[in-house]
Amino acid sequence: MSVDVEDYYHAEVFAGVVDRSRWDSYASRVEGNTRRLLELLAALDVHGTFFVLGWVADRFPALVREIAAGGHELGCHSYWHRLIYQLEPAEFREDTRRAKDVIEQASGQPVHGYRAPTYSVTDRSTWALEILAELGFSYDSSIFPIHHDRYGMPDAPRAPFRFQTPSGWMTEFPITTFRVGGHNLPVGGGGYLRLLPSLYTELGLHRVRREGLPIVVYIHPWEIDPEQPRLPGSWTSHLRHYTNLSKMFERFKDLLQAGNYTSFQESGLADTAKEFDFYARNGHSNQ
Ligand SMILES: [Zn+2]
Repeated sequence: MSVDVEDYYHAEVFAGVVDRSRWDSYASRVEGNTRRLLELLAALDVHGTFFVLGWVADRFPALVREIAAGGHELGCHSYWHRLIYQLEPAEFREDTRRAKDVIEQASGQPVHGYRAPTYSVTDRSTWALEILAELGFSYDSSIFPIHHDRYGMPDAPRAPFRFQTPSGWMTEFPITTFRVGGHNLPVGGGGYLRLLPSLYTELGLHRVRREGLPIVVYIHPWEIDPEQPRLPGSWTSHLRHYTNLSKMFERFKDLLQAGNYTSFQESGLADTAKEFDFYARNGHSNQ
């Protein structure tokens, strides 16, 4: 179970109308919303991995300490929430190093895991995984094996896998999908959990379990906040961001109660990840 700890104005759908240099001018709601999630998890006795945006950790170090005090794992969600495939490797390295440092300073815990903003580890940015290994990360959970306009690596493995980068071993936990008619469909996280009917989620997760695959679910604190200020944007952005905010808390609670979820670290799943020749796959797909 994972939480991408960011505020409503950090979401990629608003990147065109919200300037990064003005983030400080928006009314922040990330503390209250994250605390609500922490209370829910405490009540259900569930531990999760919280991939915190470095910018948030910089401004709310007490929140990072509360997450750690709840027995949860801290992970990194970049510093500036930029799409990796739009960055130069040097920019990515600097952003990641800064975020990891801020989160570790605030929590007093080492950070082992990374979740890319908007799942932006794609065929254009696989170089990022090598840099993660170089910076001391042992796993990543950013590859979404689906077709999508902004992210996705449709032919990536759907089960956790590990591979050797020039800087060391890296384990990947792909975001959960299930198979229908030869296609991978996303299920159980964020907008998919919020926007699609509960029956879809139940069916999809049932299929994943039947295959014996571990399930990676995720949520953003702003997704349980129907009171958040409305931002300008296209109607499609609004549909994606604001639909079912009032239903999400209960949906997420139901999801957690129907499964056996924990943090990546406590799951022990890294030990079960199969070795996979990731670079050979990329070499092949680039030809
Ligand atoms: Zn994010």
